[in-house]
Amino acid sequence: MKKLYLVVPCYNEEQVLPFSSKILKEKMEQLMADDRISKDSRILFVNDGSTDATLSILDTLHQTEDLFSYISLSKNRGHQNALLAGLMYAREHCDIVISLDADLQDDINAIDEMIEKNAQGCEIVLGVRDKRETDTLFKRMTAETFYHFQHFLGIDTVYNHADYRLMSTKALASLSEFQEVNLYLRGIIPLLGYKTDVVYYARNKREYGESKYPLRKMLSFALDGITSFTVRPIRFILLLGFLIFGVAIFALIYSLIQNWHHNVVPGWTSLFFSIWAIGGIQMIAIGLIGEYIGKIYSETKHRPKYIVEIIKDK
Ligand code: UDP
Ligand code: MG
Repeated sequence: MKKLYLVVPCYNEEQVLPFSSKILKEKMEQLMADDRISKDSRILFVNDGSTDATLSILDTLHQTEDLFSYISLSKNRGHQNALLAGLMYAREHCDIVISLDADLQDDINAIDEMIEKNAQGCEIVLGVRDKRETDTLFKRMTAETFYHFQHFLGIDTVYNHADYRLMSTKALASLSEFQEVNLYLRGIIPLLGYKTDVVYYARNKREYGESKYPLRKMLSFALDGITSFTVRPIRFILLLGFLIFGVAIFALIYSLIQNWHHNVVPGWTSLFFSIWAIGGIQMIAIGLIGEYIGKIYSETKHRPKYIVEIIKDK
């Protein structure tokens, strides 16, 4: 039987915690009673520098029950960092972790199926929303556009998967090799490889408190998701430069023909051509510099070049 840690990042969740902790406790006790996880499994909350009563609630929970443990960050570092802190702590203490949000918008009954898939040999099991009915139309549309845009840029993410997932300690060990500072877990997990599967669930509305992801945070998260994974936007600049330079050549031919036919005011030919040529050359130059910056950027990430899954050596 495997030891499970549920990792739950919390930022100003005082309204949510009394209700969430109760439901999570029931779930864990039921899993233990069914002998699906070991009795020393834990719910690990990560206090992400909350400014409300979150920390004291977590402390009370921990005092009253061993099932509840927590770590607390010195200040607010954002959802992804809080989550990573929890995962990296948990990997030293258990066999599998499941990460989920404190508001329990993600149906906790998917946990059973996740554990089942892990028992069948999956190192990573992703929770995927099968519909987004409970989200506002705006959130649904922006999220959808973003997923498609990411794919267009060549970033490998799973549609409608957030950060509700099971990972084995083996997968977590590989995750720990990614040293980058701008963290976008959804993009990194597919890079790990390993046997991965998905489970589907319906996402609920947030019952208490409000979303900690206002539009501003959503946009910066989205931008991180793109700029941490691809230099394609830079390449587009380079391509655009060549395109504009092509227009310059066309402009030269066209203006020379016009000149030939005495169809022009003096000076027009050279001006018409130079405007496009200069624009094109500048853009090519920017694109080229960008290519080098892109190289520096991928070097500085120090990503692991490969992950060895099996070694057999007698
Ligand atoms: N969260 C966090 N730090 C932050 C913002 C959010 O740890 O700076 C946590 C939050 O407590 C919750 C999860 O991240 O457990 C997801 O946040 P939320 O439910 O507000 O996001 P939404 O569901 O609206 O996308
Ligand atoms: Mg939420």
